Amino acid sequence: MNPRPPRLRLAHLPTPLERHASLDALVGTELWVKRDDMSAGPEAGNKIRKLEFLLAEALEQNRRVVITCGGLQSNHARATALLCARLGLRCVLLLRTASAPDSAPEGNWLLDRLAGAEIRFITPDQYRVRDELMAQLAAELESRGEPAYVVPEGGSNALGALGYVEAMRELREQLDRAGPRDGFGAVVVACGSGGTLAGVSLGAARYGVAPLVIGMAVCDDRTYFEHVASELIRAARRFDADRVEPAALRVEDAFKGPAYAVSTAEQRRFMVQVARASGLVLDPVYTGKALFGLSRLADKPQRVLFIHTGGLPGLLASPREFAAELD
Ligand SMILES: *Cc1c(COP(=O)(O)O)cnc(C)c1O
Repeated sequence: MNPRPPRLRLAHLPTPLERHASLDALVGTELWVKRDDMSAGPEAGNKIRKLEFLLAEALEQNRRVVITCGGLQSNHARATALLCARLGLRCVLLLRTASAPDSAPEGNWLLDRLAGAEIRFITPDQYRVRDELMAQLAAELESRGEPAYVVPEGGSNALGALGYVEAMRELREQLDRAGPRDGFGAVVVACGSGGTLAGVSLGAARYGVAPLVIGMAVCDDRTYFEHVASELIRAARRFDADRVEPAALRVEDAFKGPAYAVSTAEQRRFMVQVARASGLVLDPVYTGKALFGLSRLADKPQRVLFIHTGGLPGLLASPREFAAELD
């Protein structure tokens, strides 16, 4: 076994485990919610769990600048920018936009700016070769005496995925104390770059949380994510002393809507219903589509854990999108 990788304590843990009975009828199962949207202040969401491992490695290697990438409203980029500010690291973000925006920064992008991150806009075509671009930039900075650490899209590599193996350990302790001790029929989580899904699948089996993990794709498709997740699981198991088999993994791609970050009126109406029935606020890019998908799933277990992975700043940056659904 490899030595246990270092981890920073950045998140506010454990995040609450909540039973949301008022949503059972709407979602069609006994619904429990792991509130990873409450994992911190403005840097909250699922990415902070991955960054506890990734930024620990950056510090261990004495890097001074962190490079990462995402969409203009990337939750991952925002969490990275804020945590870098906290740790005294410089942060460079490669953000994907069709053209440089001429509006004032809002949502995640505003928080990136507040945190002092250097933002470089890149086109969708450049984004396709983001790994090469980030490696090039790291080499340039390095040659100028600024050692750089590259965090891949979404923090999704084997090291980042460990954040969600640990999240399942944390959940096991909560189940032993106050939850259903025999766990869940399935864990359901939104899937954008696959690292969360991979970590949950390893951790859910290892800690007896659930035999099945369902990833709700918000982009790409089932074949893509099955491949990505199984590669990440294979790599992350290098850190796993017991070599426990991962939980069964299912990717659903029928609920991702018209495109990444584009939702349907039906999905938005569902999010409004959820907020009004429970006070849970979902985001239109990830969690709204994922819980909507669970509600529409034909066959699902009787008791499900939904991981609320965050995303509030993105919702607040898209007020016009919801105007028609609020009455
Ligand atoms: C990034 C993100 C996800 C998806 O996690 P991945 O590990 O990238 O698949 C889900 N929900 C929110 C709010 C996110 O920001």
